[in-house]
Amino acid sequence: MIQEIAPHNYDNEYRPRKEKRTDYAIYVQDNKIAMWKEGESYRMPTVAEFDELQLEGVGKYFYQYLFSIDEMGFFLLKNVMADLPQNMGYCSGEIFRELKPDYMAFAGITAMQMARFAKGHAYCGKCGSPMIHCEKERAYKCEACGTVDYPKISPAVIVAIRDNDKLLLTKYAYGEYKKYALVAGFVEIGESFEEAVEREVLEEVGLHIKNIRYYKSQPWSFTDTIMIGFFADLDGDCTITRQEEELAEALWMPREEIPEAERNISIGQEMIELFRNNSI
Ligand SMILES: [Zn+2]
Repeated sequence: MIQEIAPHNYDNEYRPRKEKRTDYAIYVQDNKIAMWKEGESYRMPTVAEFDELQLEGVGKYFYQYLFSIDEMGFFLLKNVMADLPQNMGYCSGEIFRELKPDYMAFAGITAMQMARFAKGHAYCGKCGSPMIHCEKERAYKCEACGTVDYPKISPAVIVAIRDNDKLLLTKYAYGEYKKYALVAGFVEIGESFEEAVEREVLEEVGLHIKNIRYYKSQPWSFTDTIMIGFFADLDGDCTITRQEEELAEALWMPREEIPEAERNISIGQEMIELFRNNSI
């Protein structure tokens, strides 16, 4: 999965320090990140590279510490600039599904989630005053009314439903991801993960399930989410009633017909692979 970056170590404790020239500079506009284009690939710019660009009208750069991987610091560049150089472009977070090395893909999506958190807390939601980053924790505070806001992480459940030797697979009706997926959805206020699993399955495919059991969780920064994975078995009638606004496809696929995943960056792909390999 995308967060499994060993032997590298993700350190998310908030211990701000001054940026070094070898650290990485995260510059995000309209939820897109500035990256060097190198042929068909992309590379995250360093602090030194941004400093050497001397972009017009920017003045002194201001960096906000985000997190570290090993000795590498990742810093959010707070200045607003006009144009990027020709060989640098704004990229959707989707590029991190493919980016190598793997730990930089994880760094990219994690940094983009933190950049969205910063962008969404320039002003206080209660009183409208400017907010500032807390000194000792990853949070923003309003000095006018005392509000403190922590990062938004939305829990979402994802479930692999088995009917003997078949697995329920779906394709989303929206978004850029068009491969086979599992039933998934956000947890609502006032419900447990298990209740969310039962509700989502009934809503999206009209099925009843039993034997709901926890598998693993995964931070999924593409959507500010933590995914909570479950396996379950069909209970009763196998007739699918597809929720058309959510799903373009929903079907029972026999184990031997399931295509092999190209990359296992998500918990959903990992769970499908486990079923395909007869491991669950
Ligand atoms: Zn306030």
